[in-house]
Amino acid sequence: SKATLFDKGTRVNITFNDVAGLDEAKVEVMEIVDFLKNPKKYTALGGKIPKGALLVGPPGTGKTLLAKAMAGEAQVPFFSMSGSDFVELFVGVGASRVRDLFKQAREKAPCIIFIDEIDAIGRARGKNVMMSNDERENTLNQLLVEMDGFGTDSGIIILAATNRPDVLDSALLRPGRFDRQISIDKPDLNGREHIFEVHLKPIKKSANLDIKKLASMTPGFAGADIANVCNEAALIAARKGKTEVEMDDFNDAIDRVIGGLEKKNKIISPEE
Ligand code: ATP
Repeated sequence: SKATLFDKGTRVNITFNDVAGLDEAKVEVMEIVDFLKNPKKYTALGGKIPKGALLVGPPGTGKTLLAKAMAGEAQVPFFSMSGSDFVELFVGVGASRVRDLFKQAREKAPCIIFIDEIDAIGRARGKNVMMSNDERENTLNQLLVEMDGFGTDSGIIILAATNRPDVLDSALLRPGRFDRQISIDKPDLNGREHIFEVHLKPIKKSANLDIKKLASMTPGFAGADIANVCNEAALIAARKGKTEVEMDDFNDAIDRVIGGLEKKNKIISPEE
C-alpha cells in the first residue's frame, strides 16, 4: 500500500502456478530462486551469484506477480517499493528510505527486494519530468551504494520492473547490478487462455463457457486486463440476478474493458 512506502518483508503464498504463460521468464527466474536456496552450490566453483534482474515489459503483464511468486517459491520474505512513491518526497528522504529498506532486508536475508517502476528513480540524467534531479540522483546513488555494498552470497536478490529500459541510467545496468534482463511480454493466444483459466477458477461459471473463444476475443490484452474481464463478467451477471456467469456476460465485460483501455490510450498517447 502507498501508506507504508514499502512492504516490510511480508511472507507471500503466491507460487509459479498463479502465474500463467511466461514460460521462458519462469525458467530464468527459477534459476535465480535456486541461487537463493543453494548459494554454496554456485559459489563453490568460484562463480558470483547475480545480485539482481530487471523485469522488462508493458504494464499489467505480471512482473509484480512473478516477483512475488519467486519469494513464494523460495519461501523467503518479500520487500517491495515503487519508484513512483519517491516522486513527491523531500530532498534526502528518498535516499534514507532506500537505506532503511536495505537495512531491514539484510536483517531478514535470504529475501527478495522488488522495486517497481524503477525508471521513476533510475532515469538517466535530465530525463525525469516528475522529480527534481537532485532528489532523483540522491535516491539512485543510494540504491547503487546499497547494491554494491553486499556480497553476491548475501542471500539478497533485487528485482526491478520497468516498461522503459531505454531511459534507465547505464550505471544501473553495469555488471554486478541489474546485469540480467528478463522480458515479460503481453500474452499470445495460448497465454491468454491460461490466464483466463487462472482467473476463472473462483468464478461460478456456466458449464458451456468457451475459454478458447474468450482468448481469441482479447488480442492485445495483458494479464491484468484479463483478470479485470473475469471480475467484471461476474459483477455483470450478478447484477442481472444470475446464478452463474455466461458467455454473454463475458462479451459485455470484454466490451467494457476495451472501452476503458481506449480511454486510457487517448489520455496517454499525446505524451508519447
Ligand atoms: P505494472 O507494470 O502495471 O505494475 P505488472 O506487470 O507488475 O504491472 P501485475 O501487477 O503483476 O503486473 O499484474 C496485475 C494483476 O494482473 C495480477 O495481480 C494478476 O491478477 C493479473 N495478471 C497479470 N499477468 C498475469 C499472468 N501472467 N498470469 C496470471 N495473472 C496475471
